[in-house]
Amino acid sequence: MGCGAGPFLGRRQLEPVELLMRPIRVIALALPVLVLASFSFPRTVLLPGAHGFREIAPRVWMQPGARDPVEVLNELDWAETRIEEWWGGATERPRILICGDTGCDGSLGGVGPYAQAYDQYLLILHSRLSTEAADLRRAIIAHELSHAALASRVSSWRLLTGDMPAWLNEGLAVLASDDPRFDLTPERCALLADETLPESMRDWDHAAGQRDRPIYQAAACRARDWLATNALSDL
Ligand SMILES: [Zn+2]
Repeated sequence: MGCGAGPFLGRRQLEPVELLMRPIRVIALALPVLVLASFSFPRTVLLPGAHGFREIAPRVWMQPGARDPVEVLNELDWAETRIEEWWGGATERPRILICGDTGCDGSLGGVGPYAQAYDQYLLILHSRLSTEAADLRRAIIAHELSHAALASRVSSWRLLTGDMPAWLNEGLAVLASDDPRFDLTPERCALLADETLPESMRDWDHAAGQRDRPIYQAAACRARDWLATNALSDL
């Protein structure tokens, strides 16, 4: 039977309850779209190409002119290789967004930090990172990729509840990234042995805001001690 089966097919009187349900259904369908449209963060993350970003490599999106694309891809390659070797296996590349100005930073979660990883799925490199030296830039990318590598092995629930301690996550990221800012000699680590290190991500973020506390350094020392008697496969 063809599509033109008869002039009355599909035409019938709508019941009052159906007439009521129609607008409710329209609102239910439109609501997520409206919510999405009103927040620049999810809009930009989901549709970077529609917000001025250009894909310079698979899953890597950059604001035109933010960085030299060859340079930033070299740093990413160094960081990915380092993290794959250190963690003992490749992790799928998260979607990476690279900002070139503070307007972009602000719409993607902050002007302050160098970079932010969101679980294993998203990594944002903020414009401030481009002002640093090359060895720090690549270490910061590796640091965030270490968080992504850990997130691919550990459940979000364990991370949120602190069952997987924030200090261990951060300490491993410092070790994995070979961060040039931190002195991790045994003498320095001994001085940091009494530093209180937060277990939950929320407490960690709060403590990290207190710039006089060397918690990243102390966490790396403690993570190295942890690795002396544990393996990454124990996480
Ligand atoms: Zn971190």
